[in-house]
Amino acid sequence: MMGVEFDFLDKIPVAVLGATGSVGQRFVELLSHHPWFDLTTLAASERSVGKRYKDAVNGNFQFSLPEWVAELTISSCKPPLSENIIFSALDSSIATEVEASFANAGHTVISTAKNYRTASDVPLLIPEINSSHLKLLDVQKFSGGKIIATPNCSAIGLAIALKPLHDRFGIEALQVTTMQAISGAGYPGIPSLEIMDNIIPFIEDEENKLESEPLKILGAIQQDRIIPAEMKISAQCNRVPVTDGHLECVSIKFKKKPSREELIEAWRSFKGDLEGILLPLKPEFPIHYFEDEKMPQPRLQRDLDRGMAVSVGHLRECPIFDYKFALLSHNTVRGGAGGAILCAELLVKKGFIFW
Ligand code: NAP
Repeated sequence: MMGVEFDFLDKIPVAVLGATGSVGQRFVELLSHHPWFDLTTLAASERSVGKRYKDAVNGNFQFSLPEWVAELTISSCKPPLSENIIFSALDSSIATEVEASFANAGHTVISTAKNYRTASDVPLLIPEINSSHLKLLDVQKFSGGKIIATPNCSAIGLAIALKPLHDRFGIEALQVTTMQAISGAGYPGIPSLEIMDNIIPFIEDEENKLESEPLKILGAIQQDRIIPAEMKISAQCNRVPVTDGHLECVSIKFKKKPSREELIEAWRSFKGDLEGILLPLKPEFPIHYFEDEKMPQPRLQRDLDRGMAVSVGHLRECPIFDYKFALLSHNTVRGGAGGAILCAELLVKKGFIFW
């Protein structure tokens, strides 16, 4: 059956690899009541295999857990599975091998791990921004299946906020400083004695991802390759004692400096590639601009549009570059499970996935 004319009485079975972790638990929360997808397999490491889901997460599931999900038995991350669509929230130490094994067994893998993000034939997908990059799937070499990567949790919010600005005014350079939530470090995360009353000015490999991934995401597709966007990014990343939601402070220089009103209008009117397409997790507005100079804040805006929207505010002139602003996005929803599920919804809608 193909997806474009999907019969909503007939849900599509899906599996989650790494279902016990920080992002995996978000997948479980969002998929346990998804209108198109039926969560039928949960998989994790050998430590968890054979346990009931509620026991594998030690009763520490962070959201309300339906009984039928709590009772599912954890499978091992080995193909084949009966589901075509496989969401991967695996630790990067094993994602390369495991995700390729599923793609080579004919599955469609949508991954939140970093491992395939830089591969030249793997789309680094944000549905509102670069759905044209799905053309790369034509040249992927996995036998029968495919891999779609979703970006780093800070890069997603940044790329969404930059997209309408880059299209209209051309970005020359930007400096971004992040304040990233604890849940970004996986479950159970950082010891409380390290993060309480503290800020850690180091997140392994994060600055490199934030300086490179937006160039691929905002790049143009030419035939079967991505031409990276030309702009310079300098990133500094900090871990802060917030549970969910990454805040980013950006200073930005344009090729053609817009007025403040033009900037705000670009954000407010942005619809992106999904305009006119109905998808269950699509935010009504990908970007919300706040005039209140104290916004955005993690506790107040991270759940906006079910955690799928990016909040932008505190816009002002920059004495070094052109402008400064702050942005916020939910790292395990928009930047993790929610972003990946939106990718799957688009793939189904556009008929890329058979099941
Ligand atoms: P996490 O909490 O540490 O969860 C890792 C998951 O991988 C767990 O389910 C774990 O299962 C499983 N796993 C570990 N070793 C395994 C093995 N050898 N075989 C099979 N499964 C194994 O990590 P996370 O924060 O959810 O992140 C998951 C992935 O998404 C990572 O690649 C991360 O970089 C990426 N990501 C994270 C965020 C975020 O905000 N946290 C956002 C975007 C992307 P057990 O419980 O059985 O050990």
